[in-house]
Amino acid sequence: MNVILLGPPGAGKGTQAKQLEEEFNLVQLSTGDMLREEVKAGSELGQTAKKIMDAGELVPDDLIIAMISDRMDQAEGKNGVILDGFPRTTPQAEALDAMLTEKNIQLDHVIQIEIAEEIIVARLSGRFGCAKCGAGYHDEFKPTQIEGVCDDCGSTEFIRRSDDNPETVRNRLAAYEKQTAPILPYYAAKGTLQKVDGLGEIDEVYRRVKEIVSGGS
Ligand code: ADP
Ligand code: ADP
Ligand code: ZN
Repeated sequence: MNVILLGPPGAGKGTQAKQLEEEFNLVQLSTGDMLREEVKAGSELGQTAKKIMDAGELVPDDLIIAMISDRMDQAEGKNGVILDGFPRTTPQAEALDAMLTEKNIQLDHVIQIEIAEEIIVARLSGRFGCAKCGAGYHDEFKPTQIEGVCDDCGSTEFIRRSDDNPETVRNRLAAYEKQTAPILPYYAAKGTLQKVDGLGEIDEVYRRVKEIVSGGS
């Protein structure tokens, strides 16, 4: 099963992807996570990407496409992939189509998580993650069970993303509206797009997502 999760920053793509990954033995391919790894490693790509990410803009299509194409093959041995944060532009969606055809991979579900702008701001301003295992948390909506200790790995180190500040968030939302929202009709026209209401408890949203992925293949 191969799934795309679409939706604005803070919609809950990463949170839902992690749950799907575990339950269905899939591989989450998050272009945002890959880029942050490149930044951390100080690679050439990371150096280029950092400035763009901090400005809340999109990294050039050719760099993203090369990066994801490499990682698609990592899904071997698993039941498929969850694309989280990719594609984000029309050229990326077209490149993905070509890639899937070439690798003979079938796309089963394109899920758009819908969420209002005021909710996005609240979600991103409280987002943090485990520095060791990457588990995602929220100050208010998903705190760790024991304060300061990761539920999953016991680490006591956490990170907040430098692009989750109000000014950068405004730019990321603008980039979403301008460059990413236009790909929704592309998938709608193919008949593969399904919408999920992203408002509600994490488990409630997951039930909605599961209903879709359990509905076919
Ligand atoms: P995205 O990957 O779409 O940017 P995340 O999955 O990182 O979004 O979620 C953004 C923040 O909101 C995180 O701090 C996460 O814990 C929290 N969150 C995710 N889903 C929900 C939900 N249904 N209700 C409340 N908070 C949520
Ligand atoms: P979120 O879903 O919370 O907005 P991501 O982690 O997906 O955040 O992305 C963080 C940043 O990484 C984006 O603002 C953008 O600069 C860059 N990025 C991630 N994925 C892509 C992509 N597919 N195309 C271009 N830029 C990307
Ligand atoms: Zn952890």
